[in-house]
Amino acid sequence: MTERTRRLIEAVAATIIEHADELTELDSAIGDGDHGQNMKRGMTAILDDLDAIAAKPLPDALKAAGTQLIMKVGGASGPLYGTLFMALGKEIAADPTREDLARALAAAIEAVKARGKSEAGQKTMLDVLVPVSQVLGSGCSAREIAETAARARDATRDMQAQKGRASFLRERSIGHVDPGARSSQLMVEAVIGALGEAT
Ligand code: ADP
Ligand code: MG
Repeated sequence: MTERTRRLIEAVAATIIEHADELTELDSAIGDGDHGQNMKRGMTAILDDLDAIAAKPLPDALKAAGTQLIMKVGGASGPLYGTLFMALGKEIAADPTREDLARALAAAIEAVKARGKSEAGQKTMLDVLVPVSQVLGSGCSAREIAETAARARDATRDMQAQKGRASFLRERSIGHVDPGARSSQLMVEAVIGALGEAT
């Protein structure tokens, strides 16, 4: 259990840190160019605290990770990802089945929507998280979930941003992948990689 928690957290943190420059580039196109650095700061704080976090039961580990994201990431995405992880921690079972995970993610997404006053279709992280949550609940394979996340990320390219800094650009936000959609898709891919077909 502890090993699995550690593997999950490490995989998520590693991919975000590895792709920080790309995330920042995406945010430079339609925002203020800090998404990669913001997320890297949060994930580095989580890795620094990994022994303590991974020793906790999964629900508490997720809450602890969420707290770090809220404290360290800043910007719009810090409180939103922090809310996602904290709500996941609140909702998830200690040794979750696929159904538990699907239900917890759906509930955590509702918490993000409430916090961000946002919904799918507005060119944000929700445009990846919502479809992933839907296919997770429908019994798709891990590969289908990963493909759904990648397609959903790409689909944000043609959307006009309606939330966050990118919305200030109006139609000029069209033509670029949303940075938060990319970071969400990276996290989904990392979780699937760490859990494999066990998801
Ligand atoms: P900031 O916009 O404050 O600089 P970041 O650059 O770290 O924060 O994060 C930007 C990302 O946050 C966007 O790409 C988008 O996916 C997400 N985002 C911004 N506002 C919202 C919102 N209201 N609801 C959901 N996601 C949002
Ligand atoms: Mg930004």
